[in-house]
Amino acid sequence: CGIVGVLGDHEAAPILVDALKRLEYRGYDSAGIATVNEGQLDRRRAVGKLVNLSDLLVHEPLLGKAGIGHTRWATHGAPSVINAHPHKAGPVAVVHNGIIENFRELRAELAGQGIDFATETDTETVALMAQYYLEQGNSPVEAARKTVARLDGAFALAFLFEGENDLLIAARKGSPLAVGHGEGEMFVGSDAIALAPMTDKITYLDEGDFAVITRESLEIRDANGELANREMRTIHLDD
Ligand code: GLU
Repeated sequence: CGIVGVLGDHEAAPILVDALKRLEYRGYDSAGIATVNEGQLDRRRAVGKLVNLSDLLVHEPLLGKAGIGHTRWATHGAPSVINAHPHKAGPVAVVHNGIIENFRELRAELAGQGIDFATETDTETVALMAQYYLEQGNSPVEAARKTVARLDGAFALAFLFEGENDLLIAARKGSPLAVGHGEGEMFVGSDAIALAPMTDKITYLDEGDFAVITRESLEIRDANGELANREMRTIHLDD
């Protein structure tokens, strides 16, 4: 189980798969990536080892310089392509580590709005909720913020939006998440190790943090919604 994200200067797919490989030590049963290419949000997912995802990407490439990736350790719903992340609901894609404890309540609420579910996962609820808030007229950042505010449990999340080539949202509560700073590029990873080939400049999100990331900026708000100053460190990882 691991999360990665990139707002890059190069094609995202190979960077995402490589970063996920560096998180393989955590164990996983399936993997997937999503990118935004010329505004279009698309994804590829595969059960089993990352090589299965790489093989799929050879046959069905995914272009785009902005993306998110995930290795899944199933907690809700069998390990299958349908249940693999990224989960997509219309214009939003989500990767998630951990468990959304109140997903049944949220699911019931969304079902009450006539919203259908394709999976048994807790994570799909997050994507559908963000889509719901977008449809209510919220901006992507607001939709993600309102969604995360509804979630109980332990999680790390990253959001990617259709039409947004320069926006990643990352949030953490109970699961680690690191933001990596490149030259006009930004990265996200469950572990700084995932980002080691790209950058050694890391900002660790704190408990309850919500981060709005573009290639040139990182804005972090704490659990109270206040702007937070998190220190950027240069870390030294032995390769
Ligand atoms: N609870 C989520 C799922 O089962 C995420 C599991 C994970 O941390 O990989 O899909």
